[in-house]
Amino acid sequence: MYHPAETRYDTMPYRRCGRSGLRLPAISLGLWHNFGSDTPHDLKRELCQAAFDNGITHFDLANNYGPPPGSAEEAFGEILKTEFAGFRDELIISSKAGYLMWPGPYGEFGSRKYLIASCDQSLKRMGLDYVDIFYSHRFDPETPLEETMGALDYIVRSGRALYVGISSYNSERTREAVAILNDLGTPCVIHQPSYNLLNRWVERDGLLETLEDLGIGSIAFTPLAQGMLTSKYLGGIPEGSRASQGKSLNKKLLSDEMVSRLQALNVIAEARGQTLAQMALAWVLRGERATTALIGASKVSQIEDCVGAVGKLDFTADELAAIDATAPDEKLVNLWARSSEEV
Ligand code: NDP
Repeated sequence: MYHPAETRYDTMPYRRCGRSGLRLPAISLGLWHNFGSDTPHDLKRELCQAAFDNGITHFDLANNYGPPPGSAEEAFGEILKTEFAGFRDELIISSKAGYLMWPGPYGEFGSRKYLIASCDQSLKRMGLDYVDIFYSHRFDPETPLEETMGALDYIVRSGRALYVGISSYNSERTREAVAILNDLGTPCVIHQPSYNLLNRWVERDGLLETLEDLGIGSIAFTPLAQGMLTSKYLGGIPEGSRASQGKSLNKKLLSDEMVSRLQALNVIAEARGQTLAQMALAWVLRGERATTALIGASKVSQIEDCVGAVGKLDFTADELAAIDATAPDEKLVNLWARSSEEV
C-alpha cells in the first residue's frame, strides 16, 4: 500500500493562482502523454506517486488524453482509487473539453451540449463527484462565447467543478470570456497557455499582462517544449523518446541548428548549477510570470529532476540576455496557434 512521503510539503512552493484563494504547486503534472493504454499501468502509478511525494498536488487531464481518448482519465481514476484514497482533499484535479472526443456534431469545440456531456463523462471515467478545475480547452469561433461560458458557469453551479479556466485563448478572447464569466458570477481563475523558451506567443500577444490585469493565474503547458528543453536531445534522438515516436513532437524541429542552440542553452544552465530542464522551468516561473509550470514525464527520474527547478527561480539580467540571444522563438513549436493566434 502506498504511503505518501511525510516530507511532501517541505520544498515545493505553492503560489496563489491570480487573485483567487487557490494555491498551486510551482510544478504540476499533466497526463497528456504516457498515461494511455500503450503505457504499463505500474509506470503511471509510479509517476503519480513520485509527483505527490515531491509536493506536486496538481494533476491535469482532458477528455481526449490517451490513446485511446479517455484512457488517461480511466487510468488516473484507478490510481485515485487504489493509491490516493483518503487524499482527495490534498489534490487539485483538472479536466477539459474542446478537442474532438466523439463523432458527430456534439463531440468537440464549445457548445453547451458538448461541454456538459463531456464533463459528465470525465467524472465517470475518473470516478469523481467533481473536478477542481474544468476548462474550455480551446476557443470555438462558431459558438457564441456566452454559450461556452454559460456552460462553464453551469458546471460550477451544478457541483461538477469548483473552478473554471480557459486554454489557448488569446488576450482579446480572454477579456471577452472573463467579462461574461464575471457577469455570471463564476470567475475565471486560471488560463492554460503554451509557453516556453522556444514558444513565446504569450509575450507577443501580451497575454501575461492581460492575465495580471484581470487577476487570473496561469499554468504554462509544454514548458519543456515536449522535451526539447532538456538534456534528452543534446546528442541526437534517443530510442523511445517522444521525438522518436512520430506523435506530437516532429523530429524535424531537432535540426542541427536547433540542437546547437540547445547545447548553448545547456551551457548557460550548467553555469547556473541547473540542468537544462530546471532552467527552462525556472524561466517560465521567473518573476511569477506563470503560477505553475505544467510538465509531462515518462520516467520518475524526470519528475525528480524537474522539481529541482524550484531551488533557483531567479535570473540575472545577463543570464536572461544570453538566453534571449540563444533561444529562437520557433513558430512550429506552437501546435496550438490555430486556437490562440488565428481567431
Ligand atoms: P513538457 O514540455 O514538460 O514535455 C514533457 C516531456 O519532456 C516528457 O514526456 C519527457 O519526454 C521529457 N522530459 C520531462 N522532464 C524531463 C527531464 N527532467 N529530463 C529529460 N526529459 C524530460 O510537457 P508536455 O508536452 O508533456 O505537456 C505537459 C502537459 O501540458 C500535458 O500533459 C497536458 O496536461 C498539458 N497540455 C495542455 C494542452 C492544452 O491544449 N491545454 C496541450 C498540450 C499539453 P519523453 O517522453 O521523450 O521522455
